[in-house]
Amino acid sequence: MNSGRYTDLRFREGAFEARCRLCDEWWPLTVDDAGKPEYWLPRHGLVRCRACHLAIARNRKAAADPVVEAKREAARLRYRANRATHLAASAAWRERNPERVRAYRREYYLRHRDEAIAAAKAYYREFRPVVLAKKRAVRRGEAAA
Ligand SMILES: [Zn+2]
Repeated sequence: MNSGRYTDLRFREGAFEARCRLCDEWWPLTVDDAGKPEYWLPRHGLVRCRACHLAIARNRKAAADPVVEAKREAARLRYRANRATHLAASAAWRERNPERVRAYRREYYLRHRDEAIAAAKAYYREFRPVVLAKKRAVRRGEAAA
């Protein structure tokens, strides 16, 4: 990972390479047949490779485009207006199809069983005193925190 103000440089296979601060890849400091830099835009410094620089420039241009911004705002409004309806519809579907919900949850559990067990064990290992204190509190009839 690059840090600080200077670009990482190295010499590999007969060419200097610099590391892009965004994609973290090494790109050679070479020129094409026309004498133009292939992977870097020197006028923008050796901070980001050509691809990363152009991607950022493209996104900035798209964000500044009023048509794109109007479309995004319309999509946001549509999402907000339809959100409650969609949530209610999917809740109603789940209510009508409990066996499919159960089958999905069972399949999901079987797919992620090992992760769930590992997470539970890690939690218990880390918070064992707290878990045991809660169990003791429940046994004594106190409300668990
Ligand atoms: Zn890059």
